[in-house]
Amino acid sequence: MVETRKTFLPVAIPDIGEEEINEVVDSLRSGWITTGPKTKRFEEEFANYIGCKHAIAVSSCTAALHLSLVALGIGKGDEVITSPLTFASTANVIVHCGAKPVFVDIDENTYNLDPKKIESAITSRTKAIIPVHYGGQPCSMDEIIRIAKKHNLKIIEDAAHATGAIYNGRRIGTIGDTTCFSFYAIKNLTTAEGGMITTQDDALAEKLRLYSLHGMSKDAWKRYSSAGSWYYEILYPGFKYNMTDLQAALGLHQLRKLNKFIAKRKELVSLYNHFLKDAPEIILPKEMPEISHAWHLYPIRLADHKLSVERNKFIELLREKNIGTTVNFIPVHLHPYYKQTYGYNEGSFPVAEKVYQNIITLPLFTKMTADDVKYVADSIKEIIAKHKIA
Ligand SMILES: *Cc1c(COP(=O)(O)O)cnc(C)c1O
Repeated sequence: MVETRKTFLPVAIPDIGEEEINEVVDSLRSGWITTGPKTKRFEEEFANYIGCKHAIAVSSCTAALHLSLVALGIGKGDEVITSPLTFASTANVIVHCGAKPVFVDIDENTYNLDPKKIESAITSRTKAIIPVHYGGQPCSMDEIIRIAKKHNLKIIEDAAHATGAIYNGRRIGTIGDTTCFSFYAIKNLTTAEGGMITTQDDALAEKLRLYSLHGMSKDAWKRYSSAGSWYYEILYPGFKYNMTDLQAALGLHQLRKLNKFIAKRKELVSLYNHFLKDAPEIILPKEMPEISHAWHLYPIRLADHKLSVERNKFIELLREKNIGTTVNFIPVHLHPYYKQTYGYNEGSFPVAEKVYQNIITLPLFTKMTADDVKYVADSIKEIIAKHKIA
């Protein structure tokens, strides 16, 4: 019997140090709190880390995805292919620009878009693919690039989980037409809320930058600083998607710690893999060769017909042990809006639905200890022992 811990173990919490706190206070005291020098520095340091030409800081990954679609000219009547096993915003932004989200089923091992299924979903209206690097594991980009080239499609990567991941020696953020990162509170790198778009294309970068702040010909901080002037022109009816210096203050220090954060995540993942390896009742996440995983999530699945309890009950039993978990994700096509608007239904994407039925995201965050991992693993093994079908 595993003795229930006294405190609740959440599924994730941010890791904010004194450096971040001092940097935010410095911004507050400086009087420059919105987009300014720290945002610029964060963009430069992020581009340097990724090894890409341009990085444009924005208010969220959702904004990054939306801006990418608009700047790449995707709009009414177009179709965009993406994964059903993602957060709703990946698909919502396609709807926002008047296009139709077309889902393609996932691979059962990686939970990423199954490249073998993409081509049959392409029509004359298809303009782009949004691969989602689920949990921090890069998609099969070589195959996706080959398909995109053949059909003249843009690639917008949803790298909300994949800051710091590497695909075949290439850092995520250097591959697609644009790559969109999330710095939401519990992502691998956080600015509370925030995002980044990276691209190698000079003209596209200029457009993204323009569209991210009202389509205004000059950034505010250039207008209001001593070097600036009051005059501006609206070149496009753009969006209010800028990142603030308060967010960038957090980001600057989080970025410096990112490799250490990922190394810690990898350590915790190895421990989970070690403790849980002999339990055939659960399926552990699989890591593909030739990639470096960012390990944003550690999702396990309950194997079919091996347990007398279903996923929801399993989550409740872990909750009774003071362990927080979540489900990533409810397949987007099963949400009422997507069913009603596009006619998707149960059975539309059988692999994503099967995975959804039995998946559980376990706690994984940098402040977790080896003892925390052991406690979760022991609790899981205890639940399995009580409920396994002989
Ligand atoms: C978190 C997340 C997003 C949205 O990121 P925000 O920064 O909160 O807008 C998009 N896609 C995926 C897969 C996510 O997990």
